[in-house]
Amino acid sequence: MTTVYLSRRVSAISPSPTLAIDAKAKQMQAEGKDVVNFGVGEPDYDTPAHIKESAVKALEAGFTKYTPVAGIPDLKQAIAAKFKRDSGLDYSLNQIVVSVGAKHALYNAYMALCDEGDEVIIQHPCWVSYPEIIRLAGAVPVAITTDERKGFRMTAEEIEKRINPRTRVINLNSPSNPTGVVYPPEELEAIADVAVRRDLFIVTDEIYDQLVYDGVKQVSIASFGPEVKRRTVVINGVSKTYAMTGWRIGWAAAESELAKAMGDLQGHVTSNPTSLSQKAAVTALNGPQEPIKAMVEEFKRRRDYMYARVAAMPGFSCRRPDGAFYLFPGLAGLVGKSVGGRVIRNGDDLSQAILEQALVAIVPGSGFGSPQHVRLSYATSMERIKEGLDRIEALLKGAS
Ligand code: PMP
Ligand code: GLU
Repeated sequence: MTTVYLSRRVSAISPSPTLAIDAKAKQMQAEGKDVVNFGVGEPDYDTPAHIKESAVKALEAGFTKYTPVAGIPDLKQAIAAKFKRDSGLDYSLNQIVVSVGAKHALYNAYMALCDEGDEVIIQHPCWVSYPEIIRLAGAVPVAITTDERKGFRMTAEEIEKRINPRTRVINLNSPSNPTGVVYPPEELEAIADVAVRRDLFIVTDEIYDQLVYDGVKQVSIASFGPEVKRRTVVINGVSKTYAMTGWRIGWAAAESELAKAMGDLQGHVTSNPTSLSQKAAVTALNGPQEPIKAMVEEFKRRRDYMYARVAAMPGFSCRRPDGAFYLFPGLAGLVGKSVGGRVIRNGDDLSQAILEQALVAIVPGSGFGSPQHVRLSYATSMERIKEGLDRIEALLKGAS
C-alpha cells in the first residue's frame, strides 16, 4: 500500500470546524433526526428574487465565458460605489480585486503580504479560518487573548507590545465573528496610528458591516486618512448581507500595487470568479437595499430574544452582541457539572452533550481560540431559535 505523502503545509491545517459542524448537523437531519442548527453562520433567507433574476438573464444572454481575472468593470464600479456610500472611501477600479468569496480574498491578501516567518497580530477569539490562512501563507499568527471583561477587543497598547521586526500585519474583524463585537471608532483610530507609526499593514474583514443593531455604526479603519488607507486591505463580500453564501463573491480593496499582486496570484489559481455570480453581485449592490433593512430588523429581533434567554440560563455568561449574527457565551458556571451524563470541562464537551442529548448544533469555542466559550448562530428562523433554546434549557436544568 502506498503511503500518501502530504506536504507540511496541508498537514498543519485542520478542517474548518464551522463547516464541519454544519456538515454533521445536515447529515443527522438527512438521517431523519430533527436537529436545530445554530452551527453555521449562514443567513436562512433565500437570495432576493431580483438578484436571482439578473443571473438568469446573464445566463440566457450567454454571459458564460472567462471575464477579467479581478472582476468585470461594472462589478468593480458597484463595489467602489458601495465603499463610497457606506464608508466614505474612494477606490479606483484598479484597487479592487473580486474573488471567490471573502475567504478567497483573505487568502490572496495574506499570500501577497507575508513571507515565511512574518508575524500577524490577531485577537482571540477570532474566526476559525484566519490562523489557517495566515499559516498557509507561511506566516505566524500572534494571538492577543481577549475576553468579556475586555469587551472582546484588543487595544492599541496591547498590539504595540507585540510588535517586533518580524511583525507585518494586524488582522481586524469588526463586526466580529464569533463575538459580534463592533470596535468603536476611537479604538480603531488608535490602532491605525500604531500601524502607521510602526510601518505595518492591516487586513480588515468587514463582511458583517451591514449587520449592526441599535444604531451602532461600523467604521472602516481605512477611513482614518490616506496613510492608513495606503497600508490597509479591506475585505468584504455579498455572502452575508445579501444571503448569497453559495454564489461565492467577495473582494479586497487595497493600494494598486498590492491589488495587482493579488490579481496576478488569482490569475494562476482560480482565474475570474463565476461570471453569472458577478452579474448577480452587481444587482445586489446597485439594486434596492430595502430587503437588507428588513433582514437586519429580523436579525435584531432574533438577537434580542436569543440574548435574553441565553443570558438568563444558569451557567452561561453572555455579552450582548452589537453586530453579525452570533452569540458567544462563556460557560464557566457549567465546568465540572454533569450535563446529559457528560462531565463538562470546556466548550467541546458542552457542544457534544447539546448535540447528542438535545439535538442542537452549536460550535465549540476552541476553533475560535477560546475553549471556554461556545458559539450560537441566530441566522435561523425565530421558530427554530425558540425550539433550540427550549431544548438547551431543558438539558441544562438537569445539570448536576
Ligand atoms: N469572514 C468572516 C468573518 C466570516 O464569518 C466568513 C464566513 N462566511 C467569511 C469571511 C467568508 O465569507 P465568504 O463566504 O464570502 O467566503
Ligand atoms: N463564516 C461562517 C461561520 O463562521 C460560515 C462557515 C465558514 O466559512 O467558516 O460559520
